[in-house]
Amino acid sequence: MKTHYGIYGGQYVAETLMAPLRELEAAYEAAKKDVAFAREFKGILHDYVGRESPITYAKRLSEHLGGAMILLKREDLNHTGAHKVNNTIGQALLARRMGKKRLIAETGAGMHGVATATVAALFGMPCEVYMGAIDVERQAPNVERMKMLGATVHAVPEGSATLKDAMNEALRDWVTNCADTFYVIGTVAGPAPYPEMVRDFQSVIGVEARRQCLEKYGRLPDEAIACVGGGSNAMGLFAGFLDDPEVKLVGVEAGGKGVASGEHAASINGGRLGVLHGAKTMLLQTDDGNILDTYSVSAGLDYPGVGPEHCHLHDIGRAEYTVIDDDEAIAAFDAHCRFEGIIPALESSHALAEAIKRAPKLGRDKILLVNLSGRGDKDMENVMRYKASSANSSQV
Ligand SMILES: *Cc1c(COP(=O)(O)O)cnc(C)c1O
Repeated sequence: MKTHYGIYGGQYVAETLMAPLRELEAAYEAAKKDVAFAREFKGILHDYVGRESPITYAKRLSEHLGGAMILLKREDLNHTGAHKVNNTIGQALLARRMGKKRLIAETGAGMHGVATATVAALFGMPCEVYMGAIDVERQAPNVERMKMLGATVHAVPEGSATLKDAMNEALRDWVTNCADTFYVIGTVAGPAPYPEMVRDFQSVIGVEARRQCLEKYGRLPDEAIACVGGGSNAMGLFAGFLDDPEVKLVGVEAGGKGVASGEHAASINGGRLGVLHGAKTMLLQTDDGNILDTYSVSAGLDYPGVGPEHCHLHDIGRAEYTVIDDDEAIAAFDAHCRFEGIIPALESSHALAEAIKRAPKLGRDKILLVNLSGRGDKDMENVMRYKASSANSSQV
């Protein structure tokens, strides 16, 4: 089992959490070797999520930019509208296999909470979601969705009352109730085996995309581009191409108001080495090690850390990590709506913005594969508010 990625990863947890982590490791190792588990996972992805998701040639946008061909991996077409459900289905199946009766999760923007509540309903399991009290207020529609799906939402008032505090509470619940409870983590972060396990469940994105690209265009893409919050949609895409050194891997972090402003969520480009949620990784922290609050126009990208495997891929030069700021992401969102008739998630708009920068510099024979991690219906209000406030500020 993989516990470390270079100097990153590991299991930096209290002694009391070692036993449930060992149990999880053993169960996951056994499940990985079990063809029946893989078959059931694949079946649910097909029948319930609607996989496989297609790749779409963004023809008008590519022609407008006048360079490389932009291909979109359409995770926005999944049931629930994003990639997160691939992972929650995998973990819920594992929970059932382990005889766990109850699912718990942490959530920031609420999307992972909704994805977990969704599979809890599908599998008939009770579900409790921890969410910072401030996030509960900011993300009211997702709180309602979780409740509608039958989950209980706990508002966490401690600390800064955001994602990192919710994660601490979920860990506390898990320690207390691990005999019957499975902790569903939403990204390639947390202590081993979560980063590997979440990557494996999301690797369906990259494995499908690689095959689809070969079938349809007779060759691999030149670059595979994805946004990075905690890094699960990006690791899922990259997993399909790690053994193809000719495919450049590009992760895009949220630059918010610019890395220099301090208001961003770019853990690799603007963070430092530390320990967060049981893993050694790059994260946003003060000089004395307090976790900083993150900022991005896209709520789903504002996790203060990043998956350990990304830090390693960065160190060894296998993947490149860039930054896209709020304005660039909103411009890409607009372009994508008007040229392609697809409203992208603001998270995914960061990856699109990177492709829009790169495409004109490349020949028409090049292929940029972008992971469209989710659809943007959830972001409408946010986009309108952002535009209204930037219109106001440009008047002064
Ligand atoms: C949550 C989310 C992300 C960010 O999470 P990762 O783990 O980095 O993939 C990206 N896109 C969408 C649509 C999301 O909901």
